[in-house]
Amino acid sequence: FFISVEGSDGSGKSTQIRKIEEYLKKKKQEVLLTREPGGTMISEKIRELLLDPSNKAMAAKTEMLLYAAARAQHVEEFVLPNLKQGKHVLTDRFTDSSIAYQGFGRAMGDMVAEVNRIATGGLSPDITFYLELSPEAGIGRKKAEVNHKMDRLELEKQEFHQKVYMGYKALCETQEQRICKIDASQDIETVFVEIQAGLDRLFGF
Ligand code: C5P
Repeated sequence: FFISVEGSDGSGKSTQIRKIEEYLKKKKQEVLLTREPGGTMISEKIRELLLDPSNKAMAAKTEMLLYAAARAQHVEEFVLPNLKQGKHVLTDRFTDSSIAYQGFGRAMGDMVAEVNRIATGGLSPDITFYLELSPEAGIGRKKAEVNHKMDRLELEKQEFHQKVYMGYKALCETQEQRICKIDASQDIETVFVEIQAGLDRLFGF
C-alpha cells in the first residue's frame, strides 16, 4: 500500500510516522519511510532550495513547479519501484500538501492539481492521515522546539498558514473516502489509536 501523512507544521507528523512504522513492522509488514519534498538525492537537493530562508524572492509558480519536480523524481525513482516490488511506502507529505500550500496558500488554484497529475502520473495514496491542528497551535509548537531553525515556509505570515488550513479542510471534504482527518490537538496516544483503526481497516488486521 501507499500511505501518506499530512498536516500543517507542528502537527506531530514525524512522531506519528515513527509510530506507524513501528506498528507495521510489529505486524511483519515491510514498510519504507520517505518524505516530501525529498526522498531521493535529487529531490533532497530541490528541498534545500525550497526551504532556504534566503530564497525570499522565489515566485509562487517556481515554488509550485519545484515541489512538483521533486515529487516527479520521488515517484519515479523511489515510490513506484518499491510498490511494484510489493513493499509498503509511507510518505511524510504528498500531493495534498501542494494543493493546500501552493493551491490555497499561494492561491495557485487548479493549476496545482494539473501539474501534479503530470508529476505523479496519477498515483494517489491508498490512505491519507491528516493531522488537523490550528495554525496558531502548530507554529507555536515549532517555535517552542529547541534548536529548530524556522524554514522559508514556516516563516510565512499567519494569514498564509490560515489559507493552508482552509485548503486541507476543503480537501477533506472532497476526498473523504481517502483522507482520515484526526484532531492533532489530542495527546500522542489518542491520535495514534485513530490512525491504528485506519491501518487495521486497510490491511485487514
Ligand atoms: O513537513 P516538513 O517540515 O518536512 O515540510 C517542509 C516545509 O515545506 C514545511 O515548512 C512545509 O510547510 C512546506 N511545504 C510547502 N508545500 C508543500 C510541501 C511542504 O510549502 N507542497
